[in-house]
Amino acid sequence: MVHIPHLIVGAGPVGLILGHYFKRFNIPFQIFEKQSFLSAHPSAHYLNMRTMEILDELNIQLPLENIQHFSNYVYLRRIGEQPLNSTRQLIDYKQYSYTSYAHLPQSLFVQHVQQGIRDKIQLNTEIKKIEFKDKIIKVNDNITCDYLYGCDGLNGFVRDYLKIKLIGNRDLQRFLNIHFTSKQLVNRLEQYNSMLSFIYNSDITAVIIKHRIEDGTFAIQIPLDLLTGQTDIQQVQHIKQDHVLIKNLINKTLLNQVNDIEIKSVGFWRMGAVYAEQYYMNNCVLVGDACHGMPPAGGFGMNTGIQDAQNLAYKIKEQKDLLYYQQERQQIAQDNIETALKYYKKSLDIAKSFTFDINKLKIYQSFMKNTPDFLYQAGVKLGGSLIELDPIYKRIQVNDYIPLVFPKEEIGFKYNSGDIGENGGQLAPLAVREVLKNRERKWYSINCDSDHQRIDIENVNKMIVRSDMHIYQQ
Ligand SMILES: Cc1cc2nc3c(=O)[nH]c(=O)nc-3n(C[C@H](O)[C@H](O)[C@H](O)COP(=O)(O)OP(=O)(O)OC[C@H]3O[C@@H](n4cnc5c(N)ncnc54)[C@H](O)[C@@H]3O)c2cc1C
Repeated sequence: MVHIPHLIVGAGPVGLILGHYFKRFNIPFQIFEKQSFLSAHPSAHYLNMRTMEILDELNIQLPLENIQHFSNYVYLRRIGEQPLNSTRQLIDYKQYSYTSYAHLPQSLFVQHVQQGIRDKIQLNTEIKKIEFKDKIIKVNDNITCDYLYGCDGLNGFVRDYLKIKLIGNRDLQRFLNIHFTSKQLVNRLEQYNSMLSFIYNSDITAVIIKHRIEDGTFAIQIPLDLLTGQTDIQQVQHIKQDHVLIKNLINKTLLNQVNDIEIKSVGFWRMGAVYAEQYYMNNCVLVGDACHGMPPAGGFGMNTGIQDAQNLAYKIKEQKDLLYYQQERQQIAQDNIETALKYYKKSLDIAKSFTFDINKLKIYQSFMKNTPDFLYQAGVKLGGSLIELDPIYKRIQVNDYIPLVFPKEEIGFKYNSGDIGENGGQLAPLAVREVLKNRERKWYSINCDSDHQRIDIENVNKMIVRSDMHIYQQ
């Protein structure tokens, strides 16, 4: 029997960040990862301001993309055509944080973040069984640990094994998710400087995510119901193998086809808006996607998880009650889910305003399904042209678009309960964080004026700064 005091399940972004904190705090740990490699799918790509401060605290350097090339959301019929609309999304970060938000595909993020703790990651090791004996947790019959951290994602084993319920809607929408490369597509998109390109034409509704310019890494997400008329993933598994069809789908987003598409992976993604009813049971703790899942609008998924990991690491270091972790982070998950849902709904409204009412399109598709093939093709073409020519589609106001940067959710959040005093507390103001940034993290008493311009550390007991940089007033 091997004893690992702190066992992290899953080497995704969240498990890796938790590992870095444990290393920093000299907390003995191991990470078990069931796969033989770290995730190669680019998935998340937006690193928000609070996440960047956490990476700064951990001295993690990343080969970040130049955010200027990812500054727009563009709405198009086809790439190569004049946009229906476009919004520039960047804002001046300096009033909120000493680090800027950034862009990097998740696959590269994990490759770089594993450095420094590589020797603590055990690949090909799946957790399949958990038992509780007194205060010891027994795992897979041959390992014991004091604490087990489920960083094993939304479909992970730990929460499922503990029978902890998810609250919310697990199945909002399903997508076909394709990871591919094409340098020609990089050139086609150059004129738009877009991070996300939303495509609405009569052949396809999709969003193309530009992940990396250097090697032409992209992902495309296509709503399954619009593509196939059905959402049963089992019924459409064959699509995954059909690379000719997949390349065709990608080309339907373009005015002129590209011929250098290389498919890296094809999968289905079940998008939900959920959080776990409980964040821990005995000494088993859920972190990241294991305890929440949200629509991608706002890029909150991975960021919320990384911030969970920071919060939890300090609780473990300072031997705090895990209830505080749950109270603080569950509330943030709920808030971020609410914002992500709001903008997900807005994205449906935007699609509608470009004449693609999903429900109407579904009715049209099911009606057309039973017509003979030649009529179907002609009907789709005619219907599509009418949709595209429709002169009455509204150009919606810029205010109605989806923002990229969310200062309040990224950095302005507030804990209403937890280990933060009766009145709640929030992230320390920028000036305070800057001053404390290079000091050893501990509880500080500080005095500052109302604009936080004049800061006096360890002088007057007016404001307490917690080690994870949250404050409360005394
Ligand atoms: C298309 C897409 C776009 C997204 N965009 C963004 C974005 O822009 N910004 C953002 O913040 N988030 C985004 N997200 C969400 C983001 O990808 C997730 O929130 C993030 O991956 C969660 O990280 P995690 O470490 O909690 O879980 P995961 O990344 O799911 O990692 C879990 C790990 O645990 C391992 N594992 C599972 N079970 C076991 C077991 N029993 N034993 C051992 N190992 C196990 C898995 O193999 C995996 O490596 C996006 C997601 C998708 C799908």
